[in-house]
Amino acid sequence: MHIAIVDSSRVILRSVTESLLSSGHTVESFTDSAKAKDYVKERSDVTCVITSLEVHPIGGLELCWALRSLAGARRPLSIIVMSSAHGSRSLGEVLDSGADDFMTKPPDRDELKARLRAAERMVKLQNELIRQADTDSMTRLLNRGAFLRITTEIVQNLGDGGVMSALLIDIDHFKSINDRHGHSIGDEVIRGVANVLRETGAVACRFGGEEFVLLMPDHGPGGAGVIAHRIRTRCAGLRIKSERETIPFTVSIGISTWTGADTIDGLLKRADIALYAAKRDGRDRVAMSMSELVVETVS
Ligand code: GH3
Ligand code: MG
Ligand code: MG
Repeated sequence: MHIAIVDSSRVILRSVTESLLSSGHTVESFTDSAKAKDYVKERSDVTCVITSLEVHPIGGLELCWALRSLAGARRPLSIIVMSSAHGSRSLGEVLDSGADDFMTKPPDRDELKARLRAAERMVKLQNELIRQADTDSMTRLLNRGAFLRITTEIVQNLGDGGVMSALLIDIDHFKSINDRHGHSIGDEVIRGVANVLRETGAVACRFGGEEFVLLMPDHGPGGAGVIAHRIRTRCAGLRIKSERETIPFTVSIGISTWTGADTIDGLLKRADIALYAAKRDGRDRVAMSMSELVVETVS
């Protein structure tokens, strides 16, 4: 783990740091609690903080609370408090301030290592929970919620003149694939499309049922069009095998491109309008949204 340790005594810092380094952890030590807080905020790879209660300029309890708030629900951060002066009341206070664990100071080496193993288990579990909450279980692509969150972050960093395209991909006549071959074959088709999308390396999401979105930062209409045609041809060439036959299928794709004063809703709405045009014009084709009203389709 990457651990930040905070104590006003350099002697304690040195002995705890040595012990942590010998267990293979990465360690950054601080006598100044405000600097420690800034470091943890800056470095999202820090997953554990060990702090004394007697630290300055931010007191230990306040530091715990500040770290717990900055970590939020999406960042695993184990906070261990160490103190030489504790009673049952202060232990309760420590835990209520956002700490996960408590040790007397100076910590016993074996106890310190065991507590860190426990912290590591918690961090792993939380990472796994976050991963599962973001993932569509059938395809292992991002689910809709995670996609919208990531897209919002991308948009915030896009800046003026930023380029980005979205592809909305929908399997053609999917209902009849289900009706003719059964839902488990339908599921295989969905996974087949997901694998094609994963290969592009772009931000890929199962948006719902048999509909997917691909977000391509740094791609204008030309680049997005080339990738869309590649996806369409790859899908048309895929064959899903049932017991009796192989099942061909196709997809239709709507493309939209980010404009200066755009929103994610607007971008996806225009991709949806383009997708509708691709369906209307015969399916197994790509359509490009030029504005909300103008769409160009190509097979
Ligand atoms: P179009 O070419 O216009 O897109 O027609 P379509 O039949 O593909 O579209 P429609 O919206 O009529 O049908 C989508 C079907 O997808 C209906 C629904 O039962 C099915 N579906 C949604 N999610 C799943 C899933 O996870 N697995 C399977 N097998 N089917 C699903
Ligand atoms: Mg469909
Ligand atoms: Mg659909």
